[in-house]
Amino acid sequence: MQKLDSGKCPKIIRWELHNQCNLSCPHCRHHALDKRKSDNYPEFYKTKHEFDEEQILKVIKEVAPYKPSFTLNVANEPTIGRHFEYTVRKIKEYGMNGTFNTNGLKLTPQIAELLADIAWDSVTVSVDATTPESLMKARGIPFLDIVHKAVFNLIEARGNRKFPRIGVTFVDCDYNHNEIEPFLEFWKKHVDFIRTTGYIQDLVPDIEKIGGDHTRQEMPAERLPCKQIFSDMVLRANGDVTRCVITSESPNLDDTVLGNVFEEGGVLNVWKNVEFERIRGFHNSGSCNSLDYCNSCDYWIETLDMKEEVTEDFLIREPSAYTKFYNVRSKLDNWQRNKVYDRQGLIVDCLLD
Ligand code: SF4
Ligand code: SF4
Repeated sequence: MQKLDSGKCPKIIRWELHNQCNLSCPHCRHHALDKRKSDNYPEFYKTKHEFDEEQILKVIKEVAPYKPSFTLNVANEPTIGRHFEYTVRKIKEYGMNGTFNTNGLKLTPQIAELLADIAWDSVTVSVDATTPESLMKARGIPFLDIVHKAVFNLIEARGNRKFPRIGVTFVDCDYNHNEIEPFLEFWKKHVDFIRTTGYIQDLVPDIEKIGGDHTRQEMPAERLPCKQIFSDMVLRANGDVTRCVITSESPNLDDTVLGNVFEEGGVLNVWKNVEFERIRGFHNSGSCNSLDYCNSCDYWIETLDMKEEVTEDFLIREPSAYTKFYNVRSKLDNWQRNKVYDRQGLIVDCLLD
């Protein structure tokens, strides 16, 4: 059976610098209004948590020798954090790469200029719609022009420079599915790539419920270890590390916490702690069906090789049924085939045999 190796340090650190958001998107698994009002809204979100500059620098210095890639999101809007600028500057200063996704509301010309000045690797703006009506359903706001402005702020600030690589994202839902084609048509003229993702329903990634015509037939007959727990660390704003990006959505956040970087002396200690290794052991021995959450999740299909296709306009990469990257062929000068930052690079060194 195929086995995976986690190495000494995560390849990707999904880092929640703080746990707040300036929107309440109806489809948000964390901050939607109905979630905020429900009885099991986690205490974690009711309280503001935020890394301070000393803690941020400690994380960056600790992992810098291993050159992981940072994704500055979990369940938050990164640009509204007090230490956002400090963090992106330090990540680049220490020679690492990073990306983040933003709802764009606070992506001002000043932030865009900063990102271009430090040659930040990649930014995606959640657009999700071609009409104000669809945007209202996706984000709870109708201001498509404001979201577009964020993208054009980035394009303008970058000018003739190479970075950041700029993308827009689209979560495929029933109400906007028929907008995917016009969305691609419009944005291919402006951005470097477009990412579409299936909408994962609460805590149960199910390939047959993510939009499109995916079926369970696409899943391999034999369960594979999930790449997520061998390549990615999900670091929450209070220092907790959860099993993966899917379980970070648990309403009882504590039940999938594997450790805490403040209490256990850093990222590397948690990455190799007993609990993380125990969970990986289940996956590498083919027995993860006995693990809560993993037993009802098929997100592990990401472990399969990604598909690649070239069309007239795009170099399309499909890491799994859940995600598709449409790289605009005329805008590949800032794209590297094997680079991990925007999650379409190859992480081959996870593979043991
Ligand atoms: S912008 Fe993102 S984190 Fe914020 S509410 Fe919307 S989906 Fe959730
Ligand atoms: S199988 Fe699903 S729940 Fe388990 S580690 Fe992978 S993504 Fe997370």
